[in-house]
Amino acid sequence: MDFEMEEVDCPICEESRGNPLHLEGSFRMVRCPSCQFVFLNPRPTMDSLLRFYQEYLPEEVPSIGSWEKMMKPVFHRAADLLKQYRGNGRLLDVGTGFGFFLVEMKKRGWEAAGVEISQKAIDYARDVLGLTIFPGPLEKVALPDNDFDAVTAFYVVEHLSHPMAFLRECHRILKPGGLLLLRYPHTTPIKNLLQFLGIKNRLYDLPAHLSDFSPKMIQQCLKRIGFEKCKHSIGGYTLPGELGKRTSSILFGSFAETLFSLSGKKLLFPGVSKTVLAFKGNQK
Ligand SMILES: [Zn+2]
Repeated sequence: MDFEMEEVDCPICEESRGNPLHLEGSFRMVRCPSCQFVFLNPRPTMDSLLRFYQEYLPEEVPSIGSWEKMMKPVFHRAADLLKQYRGNGRLLDVGTGFGFFLVEMKKRGWEAAGVEISQKAIDYARDVLGLTIFPGPLEKVALPDNDFDAVTAFYVVEHLSHPMAFLRECHRILKPGGLLLLRYPHTTPIKNLLQFLGIKNRLYDLPAHLSDFSPKMIQQCLKRIGFEKCKHSIGGYTLPGELGKRTSSILFGSFAETLFSLSGKKLLFPGVSKTVLAFKGNQK
């Protein structure tokens, strides 16, 4: 697919310069000299991205089934994590895809709705699974203030043109004391290592991913918006259909989790997806 590209300022601090960091084909990741954020520049325009996401998810039933299987361990883990803080309540899952996390949470007694931009995913979630889905992006749905006990977004934040606006919107729609759960990849340290070793790769998944958050960066963004008590965790794994990918996901996920636990919950192994929880303060 052809993308219409545009040059942008740093999506976090609006600095206009960016230092080239890595190339994947014709796509270039840069690092902001001011806040250190790593992002794609130039990047596809919003219109190009909206077209791209109409084709992003699979359409055939077996592929949808593989998708469900791949994400299941991550969704179970996240549901268990949420349960430590809330037994049930109102939940919004942003970038919900076919809606499998909503199904899991409804089973656990939550009132759950999703936001999604892919029309075929919306149709499946509504028609096949009978779920409540708002067509996205989130900022256009205009949900009321203080409405949800929990907002979740799995592998979403790295796809967004305006991550700060998204996080601000999550904060606004959460009830005081509500919690946000984000899961995101963290790829730059592994890219640096592979570059050092001269190994070519496309780990950033460009141009689908527009940025690469480090745990430190995501925590800074959440705090700046007013979230409190950010807690990171690591590990868990997906189950892709391909055996090689599945094995490496399980191995690295489990390895990272062991290191995290042995280090007294301090070492967030790079290159492995992370989950962060953040809370909206109790004051109205
Ligand atoms: Zn910046």
